[in-house]
Formats: sequence, C-alpha cells, structure tokens
Amino acid sequence: MRTITIIITCLAIASGCSTGNKTGTSVPVIRCELAVIGGGSGGFGAALAAAQLGMDVVLVEKADCLGGTSVRSGVNCWEMAAGTTGIPFDLYKRLKQQTNAIGIYSFGRHGSWFNPTLDPYRYPGGETIIDPARRYLDTLQRYRPPEMVKGEAFSRKYWHGLTFEPDAMAQTMLVMLKETGHCRVLLNTSFISAQVKNNRIESVKLSNGKNLVATYYIDTTGDGLVCTSAGCQAMMGQESRETFGEPHAPSNASRRVNGISLIYRVTPIHNPSIEPLPAGITNMCWWTKKFPSAHNNHYPNGDLNINTLPTMDGAEFLQRGYHDAMEECNRRVLAHWHYLQSNYPEFQKFKICWIAPSLGIRESRRITGEYVLTENDLLAGVNGQKHPDIICLADHAMDTHGGHARGISDLPEPYGVPYRCLIPKGQRNLLVACRASSFSSLAASSCRLSRMMIQLGQAAGTAAALAKELKVDLPDVPAERLRNSLRQQHVQLEHPMPTDLRTYLQLE
Ligand SMILES: Cc1cc2nc3c(=O)[nH]c(=O)nc-3n(C[C@H](O)[C@H](O)[C@H](O)COP(=O)(O)OP(=O)(O)OC[C@H]3O[C@@H](n4cnc5c(N)ncnc54)[C@H](O)[C@@H]3O)c2cc1C
Repeated sequence: MRTITIIITCLAIASGCSTGNKTGTSVPVIRCELAVIGGGSGGFGAALAAAQLGMDVVLVEKADCLGGTSVRSGVNCWEMAAGTTGIPFDLYKRLKQQTNAIGIYSFGRHGSWFNPTLDPYRYPGGETIIDPARRYLDTLQRYRPPEMVKGEAFSRKYWHGLTFEPDAMAQTMLVMLKETGHCRVLLNTSFISAQVKNNRIESVKLSNGKNLVATYYIDTTGDGLVCTSAGCQAMMGQESRETFGEPHAPSNASRRVNGISLIYRVTPIHNPSIEPLPAGITNMCWWTKKFPSAHNNHYPNGDLNINTLPTMDGAEFLQRGYHDAMEECNRRVLAHWHYLQSNYPEFQKFKICWIAPSLGIRESRRITGEYVLTENDLLAGVNGQKHPDIICLADHAMDTHGGHARGISDLPEPYGVPYRCLIPKGQRNLLVACRASSFSSLAASSCRLSRMMIQLGQAAGTAAALAKELKVDLPDVPAERLRNSLRQQHVQLEHPMPTDLRTYLQLE
C-alpha cells in the first residue's frame, strides 16, 4: 500500500523567544494557546474543535502522519457507536467526497451464525461488506434494548459501521486542520517531558530541541504520557470488584490488559495460490491451542483488512516489550495467513500487501481523573446517570480480547462520559482525551472506539476554548456552557436522539 509521507516544516518557529538552559545556551520556544500532544483520533478531535473556535493550536505527533491507531495500526474501522455525531460526521462527509475513501458496511458473515445443517462451511470469524444502501444515521446504534431479541437478525438490521482508506483519513485530517488557519501541525516530533509547577504545566520539551509553551495542554498520546510526566496518578490492569464496586470485575486486581492485534491487509490476485511460508515459520499455531479467529473488513476498494482476535495476549505483550512483541506478531501474522489460505480456499484469491507498521494496542495506562467512569455508569445508561457534566455518549459492549473478566455484551441504552473523566486529578491546565482517559478497566473496554475518542477530543478542545474565553482554568469551565457549545456542534448528549439532530444527520 502506498504510504504518503507528509513532511510539515515546523512553521511554528519561535516567536522570538527562548529560554535559558543549564549550559547557558538558549532553547527555542514555540508559543501557542493550546498544545495538543498526540495526533490520533483524540488529538485530531481536540485540535480541530479548538482551532475551529479560534484558538491558536499546536498539534504534536511523533509519526509522519496523523490518525494514530486508526491509520498506522490498520484499525480502519469505525464500529457502530451511538453519540458520534460531531466531528466524526464532518470527517465522514469529507471522506465521502473522495473515491474509495470510506464506505458504510453491513455484516456479511459471522462465526457464531454458523448453522452446520444448512451450510457445513464455517467462515473463520466475522466479515463486514460495504453496503451502498446505508447512511451515516444507520451507524449510530450498538446498544440492544432488552425488548429486542439478540442474534443474527438484530445484528444484520442494526449493526453498521464504516471502513476507510487509512491514507485518505490521515490526509483529510491534516487538510481539515490546516483549513482552520489556526492549527500548526508538527509531524515527526515527539513529546519528551513536561515541566510542571503548582499543578500546572509550564512547558513541554520536544524531540526537535524546542520547548512548547501553552496556556492549556491536552494529552492525546493514547498512553497518558504527558500526564505521567506531570506526575498524575495512573491505573493499569484490572481493578478488583471492591475498587469501584463493579459487578463484573474480578475479585482480585490483576495486571491483565486487553489483547493486542497486528492487523494486515490482503489484495485480490488473478491466479489463486497459497503464498509460501517464509523460512523459520511453521504451519502450526505455536502460541495458543488453535489459530485465533479473524475479523475481516472489506476496504472500499475490495481489499480485505484482517484483524486476528487477538494476535497476542496483553500480559505476554507487557512481558515481551514492544519491539520483541512486534517481531513475534509479524511471525504469527504470516502463520495465520497461511492457515487461512490453506483451510479456506476463498483466501487463495488474495495475497498479503501490507502489515501494519504499528501494533494495535487496545489498552494500557489510564489516568485517574476527577471522576472515574465505571461499569456502573455503563449499566445505568445516560437516563439513569446523575452527572451534570456529560460531554458525549457511548454504547459499545464491554469487550476484552484475551479471556479475562468480561462485562455484559449488550448495553440496554447509551451511557454518558462526564467531563471530569478528562481532568487529571488536581491538574489545572491539562486534560486527557484519548483511551488513557479516566476509565476503569471494564469501562475502558467499552469506551475506546475511534469515533468515541474523536468525541472526547472535541469536548476537550471545546473546553479549552471556553476556558480561554472565560479566563479560567480547565476544571472551572461551567459544565452547562460546555454542553451547550457541544450541542451547537451537533454532538448528541441526550438519548433518544433529539429530532433536530436526526434531521441534520439525514442531510449527509
Ligand atoms: C486491534 C484493535 C482493533 C480495534 N478495533 C476497533 C474498531 O473496529 N472500531 C473502533 O472504532 N475502534 C477500534 N479500536 C479502538 C480504537 O482504534 C482506539 O481505541 C483509538 O483509535 C485510540 O485513539 P487515541 O486517540 O486514544 O490513540 P491513538 O490513535 O493511538 O493516538 C495516539 C497518538 O499519539 C501519538 N504519540 C504517542 N506518543 C507520542 C509522543 N511521545 N509524542 C508525540 N506523539 C505521540 C501516537 O503516535 C498516536 O498518533 C481498536 C483498537 C485496536 C488496538
């Protein structure tokens, strides 16, 4: 697959300022009103929302493109998700204008819909297929009200997500940010450390040798790197039932995390064949009892995206470390593909054309915020929750890949995420708006979808713009002002969906 490398020159050269360091030489400084660190889904949402509201934003991303996990880990699927009506809808409309950049899918096949008497051939997992009859509004429901019967008919009728071309996604994100005229994007630039005083970040050090000084900061690194450097408390692994009173949490806490996947892409070929196994890779599954199932999404151009569920258990990943895990996952992917081709002849019509350059990490560190979202919020649903500061909705199942504690698989209605989940405990000018936001392990297993992360980012960016306008710290942004601003940006905060929002979404 073609990789577009976008080199953005750092336009944000110092505003004539510099800071002295210990050696007496001066360190160049980049100044802005809002620094967003990490250019994945959360970072894009945060930077775009703030820049559209007129803030002077700098977005820092260590890779050579935007999109994070959605692009570099090959997670090019926006699963069905309630509440993703703000920036994700705008991004969808932009991608829809481009050939083969995005499509809406329906479920084609699923391993659990197997009926051996009707059809002895069992597909090795799930398969989604682009369905031109579908509209964005169709992609906004994952929850299953109790009166609806679970099963194939329900999933076929209500479950529709989106698949996109990663390069088009990365490019479009960049274009949308540039169009605001208020956002400088620094690619190939890493956050190194934060300088903190009195619960406020004063500046952050970047890999380009510069210091970034902002009034407000948003950590969207996925791992809560800025928060950790600022001394914030973090959670890792599974909490015990007692910690948050979650009914499905294990009795004892553990270090277990959600499994990881190395996603690969296959493209059609003219002459069906089985690709030979490279030297050193056997045709056996050496890491688990049998080859894991796969979830296969059709790209808009007809290629297949193959996600082994999972490629490596989370505990093994932590033990091995990133580089060793990446090498091992590459070997597993080749063995997995050989297994698919050898056992399911339909795959012989494809060959591997891309293996993601980055591992897909579902869960790592989570930052303890002013509020921790738990399974109890998910079970209560937005109409049962009593929070005054809900800034987005979600409805994905509690979904762990790796066999450890599972919550219920279908929520009865969407639940809300409070703004306080974005405020690291005690911090005055820092928010965290990514999968490292303040969620319990079980809540995170639900509240981590890409469009959700964009929505968290949109709320964080909007909060920063309001903080600037009102000249207050981030925790002091009035919840109702924030919620009203989000509603004006077409973000769904109520369930069922208000009629005017539904009408707006119909105009795609
Ligand atoms: C295998 C897998 C399958 C999934 N399937 C789905 C699915 O089907 N549908 C769905 O909606 N969701 C899915 N998810 C979940 C979803 O993709 C992620 O939760 C979401 O993309 C995370 O977004 P984020 O913004 O929190 O983090 P990321 O997208 O990871 O963004 C973090 C960004 O920060 C950057 N960064 C990190 N460190 C630094 C640093 N020091 N300096 C500068 N930048 C830095 C990274 O390069 C990255 O771009 C899946 C996840 C995985 C792993």
